[in-house]
Amino acid sequence: MRVLVTGGAGFLGSHLCERLLALGNYVICADNLFTGSEDNIRRLFNHPRFEFLRHDVILPLSVECGQIYNLACPASPRWYQKDPVYTMKASFLGALNVLELARTAGARVLQASTSEVYGDPDRSPQPESYRGCVSTVGPRACYDEGKRAVETLFFDYRRQYGLDIKVMRIFNTYGPRMSINDGRVVSNFIVQALKGEDITIYGRGTQTRSFCYVNDLIAGMTALMNGPENFTGPVNMGNPEEISIKELAKTIIRLTGSRSRLAFKELPADDPRQRRPDIALAKRELGWSPTVGLEEGLKLTIDSFKMLIGY
Ligand code: NAD
Ligand code: UDP
Repeated sequence: MRVLVTGGAGFLGSHLCERLLALGNYVICADNLFTGSEDNIRRLFNHPRFEFLRHDVILPLSVECGQIYNLACPASPRWYQKDPVYTMKASFLGALNVLELARTAGARVLQASTSEVYGDPDRSPQPESYRGCVSTVGPRACYDEGKRAVETLFFDYRRQYGLDIKVMRIFNTYGPRMSINDGRVVSNFIVQALKGEDITIYGRGTQTRSFCYVNDLIAGMTALMNGPENFTGPVNMGNPEEISIKELAKTIIRLTGSRSRLAFKELPADDPRQRRPDIALAKRELGWSPTVGLEEGLKLTIDSFKMLIGY
């Protein structure tokens, strides 16, 4: 199968490309390297079934393929808030171009959506039926509303053109190859702990997240893509093990043996207070659930960061 992965040079995309190659596919990775890096896919450059296209999905693309995974979009708050207009364009126009390509190519297309469609949820855990609590005008809205509009577009393409679609709502995922400077909490805390710097906790650290190890997430993504046609999602994927940000900091300090201290900083606007996926639907329809516990995944991630920053 010829498979297109947009955003394939990013954190999740590079793991996905590797997995798809291991499964015997021909993989075309399209990325403009906005937040991704060639370092993430360098080892694939000599692979006979791998192709890299430097391309911005805001522009139409024409590629022969049977499946498309649409991951192209800045994903960390630091990056998606740098140029919010660009974030909305990458999200919406990117999806529009990918959907048009899927129509022309007759391809199945999967959208990497997000738990951010639930905003700052007043319900926990969040099932897919929960419609969310999202600000349309706050600093996170470019990303949240961009992704919500894309979900709408995907389902309209299905209703209007009968397109074969899949929508996956990804909850916080971490692992090797997160960019060390993309500002997300797991990479920030690990780098700070390894360098003995203060661990920057935004707010009081009582807000919660549920962290999924990358290999589990990628297994879920390919399971959804290759599942039955009538199961479109949207489907939550993530690890329901919920932890406060302060507890996460303490766990990372312990696992790294660091002497770092906690430093409390201002809480960014609209920061969700809690987030935990209800994954009953993924379990029932795809037989998928995560297998890697938080400490196990953090140890693997810490080891990879040690190599990266020379510890
Ligand atoms: P990432 O920033 O590492 O990867 C995004 C990739 O998309 C990068 O390689 C970037 O260069 C590329 N990109 C951005 N704009 C582009 C454009 N206009 N044209 C072409 N390429 C472009 O982030 P990630 O964590 O790997 O996230 C991948 C996808 O999964 C994103 O769509 C994100 O919204 C979604 N997601 C991720 C998480 C998570 O916890 N990692 C959670 C929810 C959703
Ligand atoms: N966070 C923090 N310190 C950091 C980075 C993030 O306390 O150095 C907090 C952030 O305010 C949020 C949580 O950790 O409450 C997760 O942040 P991240 O940017 O990783 O993801 P998201 O907010 O999109 O879930």
